[in-house]
Formats: sequence, C-alpha cells, structure tokens
Amino acid sequence: MSVLKDKVVLVTGGSRGIGAAIAKRLASEGADVAITYVKDAEAAAKVTKEIEKTGRKALAVQADAANPEAVRSAVEQTAKALGRIDVLVNNAGTAVPNSFENATLNEIDRMIDINVRGVLVATQAALKHMPDGGRIISIGSCVGERNLTPGLTAYAATKGAVKMFTQSLAREVGSRDITVNNIQPGPIDTDLNPASGDWAPSQVVNTALKRYGKVDEVADLVAFVASPAAAYITGANLTIDGGTNG
Ligand code: NDP
Repeated sequence: MSVLKDKVVLVTGGSRGIGAAIAKRLASEGADVAITYVKDAEAAAKVTKEIEKTGRKALAVQADAANPEAVRSAVEQTAKALGRIDVLVNNAGTAVPNSFENATLNEIDRMIDINVRGVLVATQAALKHMPDGGRIISIGSCVGERNLTPGLTAYAATKGAVKMFTQSLAREVGSRDITVNNIQPGPIDTDLNPASGDWAPSQVVNTALKRYGKVDEVADLVAFVASPAAAYITGANLTIDGGTNG
C-alpha cells in the first residue's frame, strides 16, 4: 500500500541515522523526499540515489539547522523543486553530553540552536507551503519527558521544549487539519548514540526490553503518523523507548 502516494516530504538531517531511515521509509510509501544534511554530502547522495531507484523524486540540500537562513532556503528549495511540503519531519538534532555544571555556553547554544530554534524556523517556513491535511512530525526524545541519564540536562531541556512546541502548535493549525506530533525515541543505534558506545550499557539497563531500538522501528512509527490513518492524532507525544520511561 502506498499510503503517501505523491506526497512531498522534507526530512531535516536525513543523510544518516534515524533521518535517513525515515526518508527511505516515507519514499517507500510513495512520497517524493527532500533531505537536509551538513557535513556528509556523500551519505546524503547515497540516500537520494536509493530513493530515486524506487521511482520517486529526491533532493538533498546542505543546510545547517543552526542557521535560520539556510533552513529557510532549504524549505524554499524543496517547495520549488517538489511543488509543496505535505509532511515536515524535524529530525536534525544533536546532543553534547556533559555535566550541567561544566557545560559551556557554546555547547548549550548549539543544542538550543539546532534542537529548538531549528525546529521552530523549519516549521514556520514549511507551514507556508503546507496544504490542509499536512503533517508536522518532530523527533524529540524520551528524555524530553523524563531523564534518567546524568549529562543530558541541557539536551533534555531542548527536547522538553519540542514537546511543548508540539502541543501548542497543534491548537493553532488544527483548523487546517494539519497535525503536529512529537515522536520521542529512547536509545536508538546511530552514530550519535552507538549501541557499542561507552554510554550504551546504562541506557540498555533502563529499558524494559533490554536492548537498543533500531532506526527502522522509529521510521515505522513516523510512517504511521504521516499516514491518513493517523488523522485524529495531534498534539501527541508518542514515546518509542523500549519501556525506558514506563
Ligand atoms: P545522527 O548523528 O546519527 O545523524 C544526524 C543526521 O542529522 C545526519 O544526517 C547529519 O548529517 C544531520 N545533521 C547533524 N547536524 C545537523 C544540523 N546542524 N543541521 C542539519 N542536519 C544535521 O543522529 P540520530 O539519527 O541519532 O538522531 C536524529 C534525531 O533523533 C535527533 O534529533 C536526536 O536528538 C534524536 N534522538 C536520537 C536518539 C538516539 O538514541 N539516537 C534518541 C532520542 C532522540 P551530516 O552528517 O551531514 O551532518
């Protein structure tokens, strides 16, 4: 079933990790997909080539989520190339683990600029090109609701902000049948949080399932939220964390 047939999707931070899995999964449902990336143009090109092989259109735009002009330009380029934006996935995000007392202003600013301001700027720009019935889906984190890991205090604060942004915006755009939802992953095996990393064991212990999640498991949930079947879900925080916050 191609539940997103001919829809246009923009995934920020879509060249690797969770974002790449989302981009490919939504394309497999029939969508044309644009992604943004910063450093790894080769990885971004690999994702767009894979999507094009399935017969869908794909576009990769270099745009640092910390740079509002670059974000706005990526949105404009997507709308121009693919016609509009039906689904925005705010996935670009970063964590700089450090004890809060030692965290530098640069580290804190970086997380706020990418995880919060980047989400707000991309969403505001995308709404201009979003028809009624569109979808705003942000990738927050289970730590945005309940954090068990020391060193993620500033990061958790940014993801908590994504949660409140979601709930508030849902009420502003509901009259256009646009839904706004926050997907809150727990530990997912990516370059940012490798299952083989030093921080992994303490995160696995906190899950009920005693394992890391897979990028495809998050992508499956995003595909559902983007689909017509999820039309009555909005303002929601959908946690996919192996039971971490349970
Ligand atoms: P990765 O670091 O593995 O991948 C990040 C992706 O985003 C890459 O495609 C990267 O491209 C791109 N990217 C990085 N910085 C920027 C930026 N400033 N602007 C635009 N794109 C950027 O991260 P994950 O896949 O693990 O994380 C994705 C999202 O999921 C983040 O919001 C993260 O906070 C959230 N999350 C992750 C969890 C996990 O355990 N992995 C748990 C909970 C939430 P490039 O290489 O070109 O820079």
